[in-house]
Amino acid sequence: MNYDVIVIGSGVAGYSAAIKCLEHGLKTAVVSSGQSALHFSSGSIDLLSHSPLNHQMIDNPWTEFDVLSKALPQHPYAKVGSKNIRLAMNWYQQMLASNGLAMSSLPSSNNHFRITTLGTLKSTWLSQPYVEKIAPDFSNLSEIKRIVMIAVDGFRDFQPHIALGNLQLNPAFKDIPIKTAKISLTAFGQLNRNPYDLRSIDISRLLRDETQFTEFANQLLKAATPEDLVVLPSIMGNGDGLELMHKLSRYTGLRLHEVPTMPPSLLGIRIEDVMMRTFVNKGGVLHKGDEVLGGQFEDLGGALNLMSIQTKKMGDMNLIAKNYILASGSFFSKGLIANQNAIKEPIFDLDTEVAGARNEWHQHDFFSSKPHPFLSFGVVTDKNFTPSIRGNKVNNLHCIGAILSGYNPIAHGCGGGVAISTAYWVVEQIVAGLRSELLMKEASA
Ligand SMILES: Cc1cc2nc3c(=O)[nH]c(=O)nc-3n(C[C@H](O)[C@H](O)[C@H](O)COP(=O)(O)OP(=O)(O)OC[C@H]3O[C@@H](n4cnc5c(N)ncnc54)[C@H](O)[C@@H]3O)c2cc1C
Repeated sequence: MNYDVIVIGSGVAGYSAAIKCLEHGLKTAVVSSGQSALHFSSGSIDLLSHSPLNHQMIDNPWTEFDVLSKALPQHPYAKVGSKNIRLAMNWYQQMLASNGLAMSSLPSSNNHFRITTLGTLKSTWLSQPYVEKIAPDFSNLSEIKRIVMIAVDGFRDFQPHIALGNLQLNPAFKDIPIKTAKISLTAFGQLNRNPYDLRSIDISRLLRDETQFTEFANQLLKAATPEDLVVLPSIMGNGDGLELMHKLSRYTGLRLHEVPTMPPSLLGIRIEDVMMRTFVNKGGVLHKGDEVLGGQFEDLGGALNLMSIQTKKMGDMNLIAKNYILASGSFFSKGLIANQNAIKEPIFDLDTEVAGARNEWHQHDFFSSKPHPFLSFGVVTDKNFTPSIRGNKVNNLHCIGAILSGYNPIAHGCGGGVAISTAYWVVEQIVAGLRSELLMKEASA
């Protein structure tokens, strides 16, 4: 099977690249072994919440990219450049919006805070429609007269009294009354399992029933008024939750704020679902549930060309493309694996970058105020995101997203932004390469 581009991995990075390839008319396949980090994410896209230079919180990411590019040339954002980051983020927002998911940032283009499951504030850049965007200077907090946090009876993954306690500790919320309210569904009484075992996805199944949905909505109406901000766990739909949130909003007239719960995060799954449908609807070939095991290389003398890849399910039938994009993620998705002495990229054994001795790879405490160094380790690439194997550049392979070295997606809040902008930029380069190849062929014909 021959393609223009094969993308390995179906997270934010992989799907972004694959959709962009299809938009350029390239015959594209995605091979992906499983769930992406989106199933664990907030469903908001972080662009740059903290400076990689001094770790301080940033209000406006757009003022930082040029400074960052000069100081940290190995950072993926430095390789993409601020102009292309802006093009990439605009493209991503429009692509999602035209496929049913309108995410937005503040009109100022600053970062905003979102209220988390624990009642803390997390800085991010792009959020979904039912996520309240709090300005970094809290100037729009005056719009909120009261906060009502909704407990779903028996659901362990959102504990409003903990969220309430934490939010009340924040001086910015000192003048806003906060209360909790409990909601129960009659369907819980009919279950042959303990409702305490329910995850968000189980409750979303119950709420598909019209009677249960109406019961839930009516209880919300008893608990809150349109003046309130109603904080509820994300429990609507499995991919299609936004339609149900619109329906809930229409029915109740309430101002709703969804918080992602413990995995599976329905807000993250919503993004993955939109990207997956967009890719398939545009004619992409999706090999979901298959794992890329390795590749066959042509030795060009000092450089390599990836000829084909083999997968677990396809057996002897190798997949062939002109270009390959590796978006297999970080340790979380097994795009990288760590042993006692080294960090390894398991599919092609690409060159990786680590810093310091093994005992310096992480902080002593998991929840540390200092960044864990291992989160910045990954595959080392040149300025075009081309990796190498034992120093030999692989000309037609590009790496994007969380597999890359040189940045810390968690400490500096830039995971989604790096995934999208590296995907966008790599595809632009592939397209430019294919165009010049075509021109050369035409000239020599
Ligand atoms: C717990 C957690 C929460 C996060 N929350 C946020 C957030 O809220 N906002 C944000 O912006 N960033 C967040 N991040 C950062 C996140 O890493 C990036 O935002 C982004 O999701 C990374 O996307 P990716 O596509 O590069 O990798 P991933 O999402 O990890 O996707 C990798 C894909 O590759 C596939 N794969 C791996 N190996 C193979 C193989 N051999 N063959 C085929 N397929 C393979 C996997 O199955 C998966 O589909 C979070 C990270 C973590 C770990």
